[in-house]
Amino acid sequence: MALYGGIEGGGTKFVCAVGTAPDDLRAEARFATTTPDETIARAIAFFREQHFEEPLTAIGIASFGPIDPNPTSPTFGYVTTTPKPGWAHTDFAGAVRRALGVPVGFDTDVNVAALGEHRWGAARGLDTFIYLTVGTGLGGGGMVNGELIHGLMHPEMGHIRVPHDWAADPYPGYCPYHGDCLEGLAAGPALEGRWQVRGEHLPPDHPAWPLEAHYLALGLVNLILPLSPQRIIMGGGVMEQRHLFPLIRVEVQRLLNGYLQIPAITTAAGLADYIVPPALGGRSGVLGAIALAERVAQGLTPSV
Ligand code: ZN
Repeated sequence: MALYGGIEGGGTKFVCAVGTAPDDLRAEARFATTTPDETIARAIAFFREQHFEEPLTAIGIASFGPIDPNPTSPTFGYVTTTPKPGWAHTDFAGAVRRALGVPVGFDTDVNVAALGEHRWGAARGLDTFIYLTVGTGLGGGGMVNGELIHGLMHPEMGHIRVPHDWAADPYPGYCPYHGDCLEGLAAGPALEGRWQVRGEHLPPDHPAWPLEAHYLALGLVNLILPLSPQRIIMGGGVMEQRHLFPLIRVEVQRLLNGYLQIPAITTAAGLADYIVPPALGGRSGVLGAIALAERVAQGLTPSV
């Protein structure tokens, strides 16, 4: 029997787990992300403390980024140019591999969450879909034709440009690179920057929400048209505001304006099944990391 380790390495917290499936998680730990040395050492210590009948077969890492996911690159497994203090050019996967001596799969937090949803959640049976997280940042990953999207590096779906009506919304956006890209206008810090209140304290009838749904729907339309995803899964802290989902669905339909004549877009029932929350809730990332380890063990994914 195989046994897998998973690390969801986020910019604010780490979640580590051992198991084989959502109903077979045998140990779990979560702790704050501090310095790379301290945080990675804590993750390694967690796995060393676990003693089961079988040793770990492989570990999967879902990492905040940007990262280097290219197995032919000398910096495969690194967190690369992140603005997070101390973490730029950190050999994350290599440190885990050297300490624990098992193969380590490595990908972006959102690609790995997408993999988790594909293995056990809302993307089962699909081959082309998107997983977006809207929280302290805005990121997206997913699969095209059954493969996680990599290409040149990895997708950075949060930084696409969306129309910004400065008269209706004078908030300039907060992205340090682009100002009013999608993340700059619609991630959690934008809600707080624009309204001076954290999103979770804004009531459901506040004008913040139709504007938020408008930006997110613009982003979705800009992803639906080139990628033709079979489903879009939206997670992250902002999407805990479940009243956003119906607003986004209607706005996507309005923006597409009848161009895509397919029930997923033209009918309310289709849309309700097209733009959905993660079936694994907040556990897509750590479970996806377990699924990534499983793929490594099966030889389907390269490892560090
Ligand atoms: Zn940006």
